[in-house]
Amino acid sequence: MKKKVAVIGAGLAGLSAAALLAKKGFDVTVLEKNATPGGRVNRLSTPQGFTFDTGPTLLLMLSSMKKLFKELDRDLNDYMELKLLEPSYRVYYSDGTEFNSSTNIALMTKEIRDKLKNEAEIERYLSFFSYLSKLYRLTIPNFVDRNYRRLSDFINPKSLYYLASLKMLGSLYSRVSSYFQDERLRMLFSFQTMYLGISPFEAPSVYGVVTYMESGEGIYFPMGGMYKIVESLEKVAKEYGVKFRYNSEVTKIDKDGDKATSLTINGEKSETFDLFLVNADLPYAYETLLGEAPKKNLVPQNGELKSSSSAYMMYLGVDKQYSNLLHHNVVFSSDYKFNLDDIFERRVLPDDPAFYVCVPNRSDPSLAPEGSDSIYVLVPVPHKTDNVDWTRDEPAFREKILDKMSERLGMTDIREHIVYEKTFTPNDWASEYNLWKGSAFGLSHSFFQSAYFRPQNRSKTLGNVYFAGASTTPGNGIPMVIISGSLAAKRIEEDTK
Ligand SMILES: Cc1cc2nc3c(=O)[nH]c(=O)nc-3n(C[C@H](O)[C@H](O)[C@H](O)COP(=O)(O)OP(=O)(O)OC[C@H]3O[C@@H](n4cnc5c(N)ncnc54)[C@H](O)[C@@H]3O)c2cc1C
Repeated sequence: MKKKVAVIGAGLAGLSAAALLAKKGFDVTVLEKNATPGGRVNRLSTPQGFTFDTGPTLLLMLSSMKKLFKELDRDLNDYMELKLLEPSYRVYYSDGTEFNSSTNIALMTKEIRDKLKNEAEIERYLSFFSYLSKLYRLTIPNFVDRNYRRLSDFINPKSLYYLASLKMLGSLYSRVSSYFQDERLRMLFSFQTMYLGISPFEAPSVYGVVTYMESGEGIYFPMGGMYKIVESLEKVAKEYGVKFRYNSEVTKIDKDGDKATSLTINGEKSETFDLFLVNADLPYAYETLLGEAPKKNLVPQNGELKSSSSAYMMYLGVDKQYSNLLHHNVVFSSDYKFNLDDIFERRVLPDDPAFYVCVPNRSDPSLAPEGSDSIYVLVPVPHKTDNVDWTRDEPAFREKILDKMSERLGMTDIREHIVYEKTFTPNDWASEYNLWKGSAFGLSHSFFQSAYFRPQNRSKTLGNVYFAGASTTPGNGIPMVIISGSLAAKRIEEDTK
């Protein structure tokens, strides 16, 4: 008899694991609280014809998705048309410098020479790039794409050698600063830890791998939008026989001794399964579905689990085109550290916020009506905190962001051209996807929440409960959660042999 697996959540990690497990012969049912799959990878289509990806917009480290499709005996190119964005994005500094970041070394060299007027930094860029490439090549197989079963899987002579020789443990900002003197380049090569929701002043320098994913491997875009990834994975999973049940919120995982036995769904039915793979955010799942403190079952550590930052979102349909904007645009605050400290230390709404603007119809014109732009704005903010009352504070914060878009991006008439608008706060991330503390990026990636120290993908008390997703190993981001789904599937397969 096939073993029955319940996958709780149809995020990318859940979809990946479900498809792989079904291919291996398990009887897989995915239960998803929302009406559609994808979780944070979601799509908003408006009656006026604007289409937004509401969460991720940058497809990095394509190799992880290629590998997944290969394991599923599929060719990724049959499912989506991928475009490499060149330049990757434009950065706007507060001194007025506009810098085009690229994977092309010749173009980067030219930008550093022409825009930053700093010949000496070119040599340093080349030597930093060489460091990043080595870091990436050694980190992914040795620390990321692997299951940890015991401490010696993490602390052993080989890993200690890598940790020391690649100087993986200081902060990324200090590592980057040891190469560059121009603060603008320090910002350019360290802000990527914000994709993980952690300050570059705190993130261990091993997370330079994210900088490399971007500056070395490039940013891709699936034509039609990021949601293509979700549609493709759901399709493959169905071809392998996975059953999907939407609008089905698991409200409890029922236990008997050291095993989970069944699920309460939408507060009513109880259904039995042999194995349980939780894709819902791990600390939420411990607290709410398993009735355990989220610290329990984790590697011993002091204090509470730390959450990542969150994101304030604006999805704006405008009836004109701002042709100065590229597909991806990053606007830095005038004081890099002060802005990050507002988010991570003081936990207040940033006074002078950095923000990111995405205009996907630059690459695929079908995503906005003719002569219009679909404008996605992401502002890094603290996760839910008593310091911010979004009902009270949102109107003024929205005005601040529109003012900044006007000042920093020359969008002086933006207010007159908005014909569609939706905003999304940390409270919405919490209620829509059950993200613990409204953290958009899951548990933080501090040293003691990375690799072996990150909450592992199998429960220590319940032998048949597993986890996949941004808050377990290896971490947040599309490539990481795809790896996470595949690691969890591998672990289930090994444990049930
Ligand atoms: C604004 C934003 C921008 C981002 N940008 C990027 C980017 O550009 N590039 C990148 O690589 N990554 C990006 N990320 C990160 C990326 O989106 C996530 O790492 C990834 O999508 C998380 O996938 P997941 O499978 O772990 O979880 P989720 O997407 O959270 O999926 C979990 C699913 O479980 C469901 N669920 C929860 N509780 C229950 C329950 N009780 N019963 C049933 N179902 C339940 C949820 O509804 C959800 O569908 C971004 C994230 C955000 C929020």
